[in-house]
Amino acid sequence: MEKISMAIVGGGPAGLQAAISVAEQGFQPTVFEEHPRIGTPVQCGEGMSINAFQDFSIPTKNNEFCVREHKGCQLFFPSNKVIYGDIHAFMIKRDIFDQYLANKAIEAGAEIKTATKVLDIKNISEGLVVKTNGKDNTTYSSEFLILAEGARAKLAQTLNFHPSQPLIKAFEYKIKGEWGEDLEFYFDAQKYPFGYCWVFPRNNETNVGIVTTANQMKARLDSFLKEKKITGKIVKKIGGVIPMNGPVEKLALNNIVLAGDTAGMVNPIFYGGIRIGMTSGKFAGKVGVEYLKNKEEKIEYSTQQYTQYLQKFQFMKSINLKCHTFFYGRSNEFLTKLGKVFDKQFVNQIEKWEKVKTFGNLLKKPSLLRNPRGLLWIYLGFKIARDWGF
Ligand SMILES: Cc1cc2nc3c(=O)[nH]c(=O)nc-3n(C[C@H](O)[C@H](O)[C@H](O)COP(=O)(O)OP(=O)(O)OC[C@H]3O[C@@H](n4cnc5c(N)ncnc54)[C@H](O)[C@@H]3O)c2cc1C
Repeated sequence: MEKISMAIVGGGPAGLQAAISVAEQGFQPTVFEEHPRIGTPVQCGEGMSINAFQDFSIPTKNNEFCVREHKGCQLFFPSNKVIYGDIHAFMIKRDIFDQYLANKAIEAGAEIKTATKVLDIKNISEGLVVKTNGKDNTTYSSEFLILAEGARAKLAQTLNFHPSQPLIKAFEYKIKGEWGEDLEFYFDAQKYPFGYCWVFPRNNETNVGIVTTANQMKARLDSFLKEKKITGKIVKKIGGVIPMNGPVEKLALNNIVLAGDTAGMVNPIFYGGIRIGMTSGKFAGKVGVEYLKNKEEKIEYSTQQYTQYLQKFQFMKSINLKCHTFFYGRSNEFLTKLGKVFDKQFVNQIEKWEKVKTFGNLLKKPSLLRNPRGLLWIYLGFKIARDWGF
């Protein structure tokens, strides 16, 4: 059995950022990734907030993964009502971005074992035993474990975590040509319940996708393309699942912590998880190093500290799930009325006189005001989603 100090399962943004964090603190983590090449297959709409770049000092220029910058978004509601917002994000090449993170981790001192699937993990009194299908089916003994194995969280479930929250399906076409202007989101409670369709223009191509709890996703996306007269050639189809209800309750257990999608680290409005996943990875790595250092010095340490570190971030707030439940639980009648009140307005820049006008419009629709708390949740939830949704 080979001895390692820290095992990280999963070479996605969460696991790789965890590896960077650990290695930068002077320890050598081992990342296990089942696919032969980091970043592939891509299962992502590839939108990433400017905040993620800033948080992790990632350059937006002179790199191979940024393909287009967007400084605005358009939220479409039924009856073609549209609200403008100021989401600042980049369209990235997700495979190259993940490889960039992997190189950063390796340069800092991490080891990455690709084509190595972790089959089983046992937590015994002597430590963790990590069984892989790698060369010679090597088994590793590790003192600490970060599970960043994605949304399905299969290993986490065998280790007494309960990430079995609902997963929502997403499906996307990469289409030739640039369609749409900004980052566009189309909400419709009947056609795309609990989700939306997106149009993300890139450089000479566009990612058009759907996320919803409804079945027949392909048929729904095809009729969306027809409706929007998006006729470019489909060059790629991708799909995947996303945790739907935000962070899970139990994030840590002695010498194991969950990060990224495995921990439900996804914004439940836009269902983006790159930035939140990387943030959780960073703190998973911090806690892992604290655990190892304290163990060396025989000092008691609780990995519950992980939850406390994360709790200071807005993506952990219960308002996100309240907004999700209320907003996605509304009918098209409600969404249309909401759209009418804010139609063609830049929600982040409503001038004084427009505020008065908007308030007047709201008063004209008393059914919207029936649940003022719900409106407040929508306002606050979308505000957080603007910053943490990708
Ligand atoms: C269609 C779609 C579109 C999306 N669009 C966006 C978007 O535009 N912006 C955004 O921010 N988010 C988006 N998301 C969500 C985002 O992709 C995820 O939140 C993000 O990838 C989570 O990172 P992660 O590292 O937690 O998990 P992942 O990226 O899923 O990485 C987990 C890794 O673990 C590996 N693995 C799993 N099990 C094992 C094992 N037993 N042994 C070894 N390796 C294992 C997997 O191969 C994988 O590489 C989208 C998701 C989907 C499905």
